[in-house]
Amino acid sequence: MRITDLVPVPDLLGMRRVLCIQPHPDDMEVGAGATVARLCRAGGRVRVVTVTDGGAGSADPAMSPAELAAVRRGEAEAAARLLGVAEMGWLGFPDGGELEEGAVRRALAREIRAFRPDLLLAPDPWLPYEAHPDHRLTGLAAAAAAILAAFPYALRSGEGPEPRHEVQAVAFYGTAAPNTRVDVGETWALKLEALRAHRSQFPPETWPFVQAYFEGKAREIGAGAGCELAEAFKVLPPIALHFNVDAAAS
Ligand SMILES: [Zn+2]
Repeated sequence: MRITDLVPVPDLLGMRRVLCIQPHPDDMEVGAGATVARLCRAGGRVRVVTVTDGGAGSADPAMSPAELAAVRRGEAEAAARLLGVAEMGWLGFPDGGELEEGAVRRALAREIRAFRPDLLLAPDPWLPYEAHPDHRLTGLAAAAAAILAAFPYALRSGEGPEPRHEVQAVAFYGTAAPNTRVDVGETWALKLEALRAHRSQFPPETWPFVQAYFEGKAREIGAGAGCELAEAFKVLPPIALHFNVDAAAS
């Protein structure tokens, strides 16, 4: 007996209000860009919230964090427009492994209570060997905010009760334990275009490698789903995100 035998894994493509949380300005496109484009095409309203300012994402010591953050914000806005994203939010935490999980958790609970999404998209914090603390902490904070936003006296901004909101599901991208594969053949070209908009991260000289890897991976995932190209997610209802001994196998 598993929780997901009683409460089935929700249908990701049936979601209409989607809040996508990303640690850095390009993670949504890498992990879920083609699926986000599909959700937008189907009439969904997608808000993308970036936790850090992306200011540490360069190996060039001459590139100041403030300068890079401004560049990356422009790149992310251009990429999001290509995919059909309706709104963007910027939490502005410093990039580079300095996040404090409680602060991010409270900020994300505010986002959930204000936007009232059906679906939350977030990086999988339980990805084995994920060494980047911004990804682990953002994923953990998002998962915690998803379950706690339903309780008016949890993660409060002030003294009184908060407006409660319950998401229908959390879909983790960048996961090693997917239970959902989305056919993205029709929006794959858009994802590549959106990724290319992040020129500070994927400059033309590295693009052939980047495209070969992402496309090879999408073909592999697609082969398991009976389609040419797919993105993979671990989708769980909030009830399956607490005290669930079967979550890893669900
Ligand atoms: Zn990242």
